[in-house]
Amino acid sequence: MKRVVVLGSTGSIGVQALEVIEAAGEDLELVGISAQTSWETAIAQAKKHGVDRIAIADPAVAERCATERSGVLAGPEGVRELVATSEADLVLNAITGSAGLGPTIVALTEGIDLALANKESLVIGGELITALAEATQTKIIPVDSEHSALYQLINAEQAPGTVEKLVLTASGGPFRERTDLSEVTIEEALAHPTWDMGGRITIDSATLFNKGLELIEAHHLFAVPYAQIDVVVHPQSIIHSLVHLNDGASLAHMGYPDMRVPISFALHYPDRADVALPSLDLAQLAQLTFEEPDLDRFPCLRLAREAGEAGGTAPCVLNAADEIAVGAFLDGEIPFTAIPRVVARTLEEMPAAAPTHFDDLIATDSEARKRAHEAVQAEPA
Ligand code: MG
Repeated sequence: MKRVVVLGSTGSIGVQALEVIEAAGEDLELVGISAQTSWETAIAQAKKHGVDRIAIADPAVAERCATERSGVLAGPEGVRELVATSEADLVLNAITGSAGLGPTIVALTEGIDLALANKESLVIGGELITALAEATQTKIIPVDSEHSALYQLINAEQAPGTVEKLVLTASGGPFRERTDLSEVTIEEALAHPTWDMGGRITIDSATLFNKGLELIEAHHLFAVPYAQIDVVVHPQSIIHSLVHLNDGASLAHMGYPDMRVPISFALHYPDRADVALPSLDLAQLAQLTFEEPDLDRFPCLRLAREAGEAGGTAPCVLNAADEIAVGAFLDGEIPFTAIPRVVARTLEEMPAAAPTHFDDLIATDSEARKRAHEAVQAEPA
């Protein structure tokens, strides 16, 4: 039986992971969960799944929660303690944003394999995280659907030099066909055509920023140079990614868009378990379409590629600035089209430096947030 901790258990990925664990019977045992603020849901999950150990990341909320239930680990330190003392075989990190970096470091340091849904861990921590995983001989199994697809495709092609190019597919988001993005409302941006996800990632999908994060994530996960990673828009989200091989063959990973598939793969790896889903009916789908991403309407994807190529602290700045910009958009402070402007301005102000320690990244993250806030204020009202 594999002992599993699920961080971010009340979010979209976390809830589906608990379903997968429940369906796994004797194969997987849930031994700990964490949530940011949704403590009532977390307590209900713990009761339902027979879990003793809970962490609540928001300190104020954790205090309230402690009045209802004893032994709740509090704050970001509590989440890290949950991981460090879990004796788990696998940690699923489904925390949103840069808050996921700390728990990733603890899991890898403790030699616990990581099912990674928190792409920011690799975007921000890049070189340091992959070096840490190598040093402690731990596996990072991606949960992001595109990267799960690539992981499976590349696993089938072990010989060095056979994989020439990775191609990440992108749904294109809700504004793929909209020419003027200046009047986009919050509600419109939150309505994603194919994937049902949390708030920030849904906005990041609408700007294609999410695909930019995935580009950086893929670079680190698979140690492939940026020039060999393409993005193609594929509105039906049936092909989850593909690899081009040296002999002219291309392998694609296909299926209906359902996150239980990559979640189940990561939790059960190297085994495969049943997931109750219909298999693909190609005749019924009739057609799959593809197009180039439009970098003029969606500059976030270009900014992410440039930050990735610059390396060092640049992706950390990129991510922090976007978290602030998206928050400001969701609060109605800036228009949709200001998101890339805030990110670009913050990147210009903070040239890439080489981080030698995780503390450098934490300092960069907070400096970038401060400057992104200023960039938000500088936007015309
Ligand atoms: Mg994805």
